[in-house]
Amino acid sequence: MNSSDIIQITLPALCYRGLVPLPHNELKIEMAKNDSARTIKEVMQSPDKLIVLLAKKEFLSNVDTIENFNNIAVIGKIVALTDARTSQRLVIKTIVRCQIDSFLEVEPIMHVTVTTKPSVSTSTTRELACVRLLVQELDPKTKNLFKANTDLISKVSEGVTPEILTDMFAHNLNLDYNTRLKYLNTIDTTERMVFLLQDIRNEKVVREIEDEIDNKVRQNVSENQKEFYLRERMKVIQEELGDKAKKESDIEELRKKILDVKMPKNIEEKALNELVRYSMLSSGSGESSISRTYLDFIISLPWSNASEDCHDLVKAKEQLDIDHYGLNKVKDRILEYLAVCIMTKKTPQAILCLVGPPGVGKTSLAKSIAKAMNKKFVKQSLGGVKDESEIRGHRRTYLGALPGRILQGMKRAGTINPVFLLDEIDKLSSDYRGDPASAMLEVLDAEQNQYFSDNYLEEPYDLSKVFFIATANYLENIPAALRDRLEIVEVSSYTEFEKFEIAKQHLIDKQLSIHGLSKCDFSLSDKALWMLIREYTREAGVRELERYIGTLIRKAIKTILLEKTTPINIDENNISSWLGKPRYSYTKLDNNDQVGIVTGLAYTQFGGDTLPIEATCYKGDGRLLLTGKLGDVMKESGQAALSYVKNNAEKFSINEEVFKTNDIHIHVPEGAVPKDGPSAGVALTTAIVSLLTKQKVDHTLGMTGEITLRGRVLPIGGLREKSIAAHRSGLKKILIPAENVKDIEDVPASVLEELQIIPVTTAEEVLEKTGISGHVGTE
Ligand code: ADP
Repeated sequence: MNSSDIIQITLPALCYRGLVPLPHNELKIEMAKNDSARTIKEVMQSPDKLIVLLAKKEFLSNVDTIENFNNIAVIGKIVALTDARTSQRLVIKTIVRCQIDSFLEVEPIMHVTVTTKPSVSTSTTRELACVRLLVQELDPKTKNLFKANTDLISKVSEGVTPEILTDMFAHNLNLDYNTRLKYLNTIDTTERMVFLLQDIRNEKVVREIEDEIDNKVRQNVSENQKEFYLRERMKVIQEELGDKAKKESDIEELRKKILDVKMPKNIEEKALNELVRYSMLSSGSGESSISRTYLDFIISLPWSNASEDCHDLVKAKEQLDIDHYGLNKVKDRILEYLAVCIMTKKTPQAILCLVGPPGVGKTSLAKSIAKAMNKKFVKQSLGGVKDESEIRGHRRTYLGALPGRILQGMKRAGTINPVFLLDEIDKLSSDYRGDPASAMLEVLDAEQNQYFSDNYLEEPYDLSKVFFIATANYLENIPAALRDRLEIVEVSSYTEFEKFEIAKQHLIDKQLSIHGLSKCDFSLSDKALWMLIREYTREAGVRELERYIGTLIRKAIKTILLEKTTPINIDENNISSWLGKPRYSYTKLDNNDQVGIVTGLAYTQFGGDTLPIEATCYKGDGRLLLTGKLGDVMKESGQAALSYVKNNAEKFSINEEVFKTNDIHIHVPEGAVPKDGPSAGVALTTAIVSLLTKQKVDHTLGMTGEITLRGRVLPIGGLREKSIAAHRSGLKKILIPAENVKDIEDVPASVLEELQIIPVTTAEEVLEKTGISGHVGTE
């Protein structure tokens, strides 16, 4: 069949839902295998394989009645059929429009009689104009206006009639159902061309708008995403930049500080180098914080900052007097020392070392010196320092490395010329980690301490302007090499009278002001104070006393606030209701004389003390047993004492047999504290003789001194301490080595008034003065 023939023909017809057939196209349709299968079968069996493709008048219409079909349809030829299980795929070449003349039958196969309706052309010039316009429209952009058929344009360029062209284009354009119907129903080619031009243009505009909207949407979405991404990035950048900026300003600040503190050139250089290193380390890293701590430390050390010294000895004397009662000898020594400092304008070679029991005012003397000289005061305790690196610091390579105690103290002082108190220098000990005393030597040596080296700092630090003062409780315990460098000033125990005065003049006022209580609200009677001194405390210094006064004041404040009663008066009658029962009875002496019991006198780091010594014997074979936590020296004293007594047994009317048939046991009971020292020989000898001659020893008599095998009494140390302790314990007389007579001037007058001091040179004399020589007792 030709598309230009006009014929009438009856053919099977088919309606494919949603399809508006147009001639000159190839349709690929897939149909379910239902009724249409029969139609197709019939068509396939016909020689021409022609079929009428119907279109419905309305897209949505479901009903297949004759009225519903569009009057114009298209005749097509099935060129291919693929049979699948449930469907058939057809390829139909559409040939020509046709007008439906009549429906012959509808069921089971629809047959229609149609007359072909070839396209007509009313105006060839119009048509030509339209073709031109159409060709103009067909720029490459138009390509995607059409459905998949991309070779459409190439077909056009090959040359097709306007009739074919319009049908092909209309078929491939993205048009709605009704518009398609319009193309189907329009027989005039020129008219269709005009439609086509309009539709292409419309479509182009729609496409443009679509594109525009699409672009906008896409742009919006991507812009949102972009913005989000940029914001995130910006945050990170800002953080980094911020950190960097912060670090930069930090580094600038550090640099300024380094330059400000005016360090020696070499240190400054080192600090600046470290700063460069610090600036290159990332801020979160461990190394960076180590570096930073080091820089901070260097900056905070005093390098040039000095306080203006006051070189006024009169003022210094005044200050010492204001702050301390008594201690005249000590104050004199200190003033002499200061006088030298003032004259020579440098710290003396030897370092001042205040030695004395706790609580006698060593620290507060050092503080007064600092105050008098207008210097800063720092205190660094050396008690328990075993490790050299505690003095000299750790190398920075160690994690958590710290500078040594000396430089830490200097940092706290903040000036290069403070008074630096090295507390408890006698408690330095050494072990495998090095000898801290040798590091201290460097600190205390005026020649060397200009270049004191600290492991942490790594550079020498000048300590030469520092005014060191050391304190110690016990002279013997100071390492010998150090003692050499020290100017020892002994601050001894206080007598009860001194304590009383110190409390009256200083401690009560001091504690009142610390606790913010006024003098009118609190009073402590003299008798109560004596009780505090004698029955609540037993110490060389006044620390415990001060603490008790503090306790009383605190309790008084509590009562004032709770009960609204003022003033609080504390006297001897009510003191125990405030502090509880007294801890000590005033005199702890046994009040009767006994055989084998002698009171020795000891000098410990806590001051002087009495030392009761007991001796007893029982059946045995002549052994000597010494107990009571005695040190080696004291044990040897015991041996020597026994040897002396054995040797002089006859003189003391002692049967030598007792040494063979008895064991002698000497015990020093007091407090299970370790006891040692070379001054118990006299007391031990007396105890043994008393025991073996069964003669009682006067319980108000104390004695001190070492004894040689020949019976000579050797001098002792700490006579002042011992006599004060003897007096404190209620002894009436003490025997001392004759060589110590010169020290009696140190004994406070108040003690001498009540304590008889008897010098002795030999053991015989001791026994004579004790009243037990040469007589065999009756007990
Ligand atoms: P130390 O350092 O010898 O152990 P402190 O210097 O700490 O003793 O003294 C303890 C307390 O006793 C301080 O409050 C101090 O002021 C006071 N003190 C000690 N001796 C005197 C004194 N002679 N005059 C006034 N107060 C004293």
